[in-house]
Amino acid sequence: MAAGDQNIRRAIGRGLWARCPNCGKGRLFAGYLRVVERCSVCQAPLGNYRAADGPAFITITVVGLLLVPALGWSFVALRPDPLKLALSVGLLMGILTLVCLRLSKGMMIGYLWATDERDSGA
Ligand SMILES: [Zn+2]
Repeated sequence: MAAGDQNIRRAIGRGLWARCPNCGKGRLFAGYLRVVERCSVCQAPLGNYRAADGPAFITITVVGLLLVPALGWSFVALRPDPLKLALSVGLLMGILTLVCLRLSKGMMIGYLWATDERDSGA
């Protein structure tokens, strides 16, 4: 494994836990999804890295791949009341989406930082 791969994995891991991809100590987010302009510990310019639609795409893919088969299986195997099924799946989908969106945005900012893919402003 090359040193660059290790740095990318470390940065993605730190981003996953909402920490600065550079030092691993400062916070990555100010609030739920807003990325801080600069790390409070190492002053890394984290605000220059824009994840754009990537986290939403990852979230839609992961939540869809997990919940659609689970919905189909539970409808056939358990035969629940449709209203209870809709409420429980809706609640589960909402929680899973909110968690996955934050995790995937942190991962993507870590990757962008490790590969130095800054926002060009175009
Ligand atoms: Zn930092």
